Amino acid sequence: MVLTRKLQLVPCAEGMSKEEAKKEVDRVYKILRDGIYAQNKAYNIFISRRYTAILLGASKEELAKLTLIGERNPKKDDPSYSLYEYGKINFIKGIPQASALGQHAISDLSKQKKDGLFKGKVALACRRLDAPMWIKQKYEFYHNYADNKELSENLYSEDLKIYMKLANICVFEVVLGNPHKSAAIRAELERVFDENYKKLDSSIQIVNNKIMLYLAINIPEKQIELKEDVVVGVDLGIAIPAVCALNNSRYIKKSIGSANEFLRIRTQLQSEKKRLQRKLRDTNGGHGRKKKLAPLDKLSKRERNFVQTYNHMISRRVVDFAVKNNAKYINVEDLSDYKNNGSEYILRNWSYYELQQQIEYKAEMYGIVVRKVNPYHTSQICSQCGHWEEGQRKSQSEFECKACGYTANADFNAARNIALSTDFVKK
Ligand SMILES: [Zn+2]
Repeated sequence: MVLTRKLQLVPCAEGMSKEEAKKEVDRVYKILRDGIYAQNKAYNIFISRRYTAILLGASKEELAKLTLIGERNPKKDDPSYSLYEYGKINFIKGIPQASALGQHAISDLSKQKKDGLFKGKVALACRRLDAPMWIKQKYEFYHNYADNKELSENLYSEDLKIYMKLANICVFEVVLGNPHKSAAIRAELERVFDENYKKLDSSIQIVNNKIMLYLAINIPEKQIELKEDVVVGVDLGIAIPAVCALNNSRYIKKSIGSANEFLRIRTQLQSEKKRLQRKLRDTNGGHGRKKKLAPLDKLSKRERNFVQTYNHMISRRVVDFAVKNNAKYINVEDLSDYKNNGSEYILRNWSYYELQQQIEYKAEMYGIVVRKVNPYHTSQICSQCGHWEEGQRKSQSEFECKACGYTANADFNAARNIALSTDFVKK
């Protein structure tokens, strides 16, 4: 399936002085405007020449010759080399401008033929001189992280920057905006980076002085078939943020994330914050208080973003697991009532609520339904025989059934119970 995504680009002027940056922006805009103009003008020449040739009864060979020279850049000393006059049409060097227009013009012409062009029903349609410029695949994306793994971990961070290099001519920054609003496009670009989605011939236009990229991507035709009888159960835990299991398999299991890492970084951020706060208290009032508060703001923002980023990563993997197993449903524990299991500790250190919301939001994109189930006893029941008795969860990680002797990882047993539960909690 081919999709087109509209992305705003701005000329990249990182590390430049104000003056240099302005020059760079002007340079890039000029290149684009000239290139767009040249290609559209050439397209119009090409299509009208072909139209006239067909009207005059040109042979196949003559049309092929026309296409050949129509897809060439003009040469200074050889006017017959190209359809276009040297010095009159100035293609951008490095971008296949002439070779990109031929096939478009030919297919547009045959469309118009169907509409009755040669029967006088419609007039030959030309292209606006500010219409999008085809750039084929002379563009590359890159990002500000060391590798794609690091990109994935920071996909929803405000610090993420994605750049696009057009041939060897200009570099743009892709305008991503608010991580929440741009969650879908970020996920798609991630798949372009890991080559799950193939980038195709795309085009660029300037609209109201904004540079717009129409990114064409090919999404593999793997139709996701969701099965009504497949349910993923997600156990949100302390040691492992999320453990996934299926209602119809005793063996398939996925553990997502590591709480140790999460807590370590989080604690680091918190103690750094406390230290700063103490320091600020000692120097209360006086000049430059706002300035003194700035590092604290920055730290709070990092902390906030970190939780969000981490939750995005976990929720995405949960939904990927459901998609991979064709599950129509994801069951999660209803965590609105915390009093029973002494989880205030978890609540303070982890935004489970946010994680649940993110799972719901991402699942929705695939048509997967997220249901909340009653969390009561999900960790104490045997997922094999249904037996419930106190003390079957022998430790944080071990479960052993006192009736049938089934042993399993305790989180996995809980996740399976959640997957099998029909005790839904209405919103
Ligand atoms: Zn049992």
